Amino acid sequence: MILCRTIAELKNELYKIKHSNDQATIGLVPTMGFLHEGHASLMRQSAAENTASVLSIFVNPMQFGPNEDFDRYPRDEERDLAIAQANGIDLVFMPEVKEMYPAKPRTSVIVSQLTERLCGASRPGHFDGVGLVVSKLFHLVQPDRAYFGMKDAQQLAVIQQMTDDLNFPVEIRPCPIVREPDGLALSSRNVYLSAEQRQQAVVLSQSLASAKEWVAEQGMTPEELLSRVKAKISEAGQAEIDYVEWLAYPSLELPAWNEPIAEHRGKYILALAVKFGATRLIDNSLFVTNEEVYNHV
Ligand code: AMP
Repeated sequence: MILCRTIAELKNELYKIKHSNDQATIGLVPTMGFLHEGHASLMRQSAAENTASVLSIFVNPMQFGPNEDFDRYPRDEERDLAIAQANGIDLVFMPEVKEMYPAKPRTSVIVSQLTERLCGASRPGHFDGVGLVVSKLFHLVQPDRAYFGMKDAQQLAVIQQMTDDLNFPVEIRPCPIVREPDGLALSSRNVYLSAEQRQQAVVLSQSLASAKEWVAEQGMTPEELLSRVKAKISEAGQAEIDYVEWLAYPSLELPAWNEPIAEHRGKYILALAVKFGATRLIDNSLFVTNEEVYNHV
């Protein structure tokens, strides 16, 4: 496995891969590091589907708001490199902020509409930063496929839209959410949780599981579903709800609010963001109609 810290090194190594085999396909796994099994599952999928896999590790300041956790985002370079090596990565791109942004960028990548709700509403400018850094990574690596987790379902929808709108020649590959045995979705931010908050955080996946049963109930409307989910989350004493939303996916449009969910057609997402102290966690679940019944996927 090769470690590149500069764009020049990255291009040089990619040139060697592509020129030693003109059929070579490149997979890209963009991350912010402090890797866990969720990231590892993306790496393994990339390794299985491509000749060579590139992992980027970059805590992108452009996607953090002024009062967010950029400065204290967890980092562990040595451990990350060992995980990358063990999961089929050929090349790690780990640039400094100055390498990616030698000067303040004057170009924005703004995906409209899809970024208006959920994390886009709670974190103004967040997805502009994501769009910019992912565009740069796509140009630098020129991958055939890029791997993103459904954990960040809105991010995935935004990146798919950006890729389509700007004709990036890359296939976006969605990957399922990896969870702890008790259901908590893996996240680099889980290390911030106190022991008590960690215990309470399981309420996110538990409320998604309860929702799976509730959507099947006769006459259940999005309004009623959301109020039940919010009530369940609030049973965890330290939970402070940022949002709980039921939206069409991947368009992220609002459903008919007072209509029974059983009458909705297509794919929907139940998405949650909940704070425990200063730590904000997100989770979601997709639901797909099948005749009159909603199946959890
Ligand atoms: P991050 O380092 O948090 O920016 O995440 C990098 C990539 O890993 C994103 O595409 C995430 O959606 C994905 N990811 C993070 N956590 C998980 C998880 N628990 N399961 C699957 N993918 C994940």
